[in-house]
Amino acid sequence: MVTALVIRCSALLLAMLATGETSGRQPTPASDRLFDHVFVISVDGLRSDAIPAGGPGRLPTFHRLLGASSTLNARTDPEFTVTLPNHTSMITGRPTAGAHGHGWRENSEPPEGETLHTRAGFEVVSMFDVAHGHGIRTGCFFSKSKFSLWIRSFNAGREPPRTSIVRAAFHEGMSEVTDEAIAVLKEWDRGLVFLHYALPDRAGHEHGWDISPDSPFMASIIEIDGELGRLLDEMASGTRRCAVIVTSDHGGGYPFRTHVAAHMWVNYIIPFLVWTSDEAPSIDLYELNREVRRDPSLDRPPCAEPDDEAGQRMQPVRNGDAANLALHLLGLPPVPGSIINSRQDLRILGEAGATEVRSPDPG
Ligand SMILES: [Zn+2]
Repeated sequence: MVTALVIRCSALLLAMLATGETSGRQPTPASDRLFDHVFVISVDGLRSDAIPAGGPGRLPTFHRLLGASSTLNARTDPEFTVTLPNHTSMITGRPTAGAHGHGWRENSEPPEGETLHTRAGFEVVSMFDVAHGHGIRTGCFFSKSKFSLWIRSFNAGREPPRTSIVRAAFHEGMSEVTDEAIAVLKEWDRGLVFLHYALPDRAGHEHGWDISPDSPFMASIIEIDGELGRLLDEMASGTRRCAVIVTSDHGGGYPFRTHVAAHMWVNYIIPFLVWTSDEAPSIDLYELNREVRRDPSLDRPPCAEPDDEAGQRMQPVRNGDAANLALHLLGLPPVPGSIINSRQDLRILGEAGATEVRSPDPG
């Protein structure tokens, strides 16, 4: 299965290179106040409390990220704490269920031939579509084969066919994911990239979500800390403005060795850390966004309808905020049909007037 996917991805990559990266679109120039590169990074199975438990000595990069615009009290999808539903929220700004949901509830290998659009019954637009529509290059590098659903959905499975993710690859190894990201930084002027690191989830399923110092789960997070450190150092040493949004699809620990119980705090409390390459100062995201977001304490609030003004102001920061925040930082409009951060009102330190420089609507 894994080998087959690698081959399929390689073939897709060739097709994508042929149709996407050389399509001759003119990139949208970045103003001084926008970011050249925005990376949405998911650390699969990262429980928030693992970061303070590890401490800055063992997790220097996570603490560097925590020292930016951050919270350890973000939320997953309100009804699902599994991989594919939450990651699909991260790139679409939709919850899983409900009238505005993307509708992909399963977490197994996606059935051959099915796409997000065939499942939802409408076209599910992603942040990749919006960015690519504005001439910004898009990448997706992941370490679980089930993400082939996205490649199928955003590159081939639409009428007329489109290629919205211009470079994609599946890697078992964590360092290969980082290598892809660093290659993009060297090659592209502007980009929107999604990275997925599976290792903590693998360790959690095998040994449990144990945050004691020498557990396999903590060792996996230390390894990802090193990978993210390589990436941040590359960004900080370059001349292009970069922003990194680090979050997770779910925590873990209940039931033992899994994370499927959506009502358990160990599963639904996740980090949301936004770092910029000019090392903007530290602020709590709820403090910075107190007019538009509410710290949920230990609660698990449902998503609010787009026209529910009071409900919108009560929303926690969610992993689903990532799509429209990423587009905002690139100076682009929100994902059509999204309801999470669809007003693009989630602020970070380090951005400045990004809403004043908007590109035209996606073509
Ligand atoms: Zn898992």
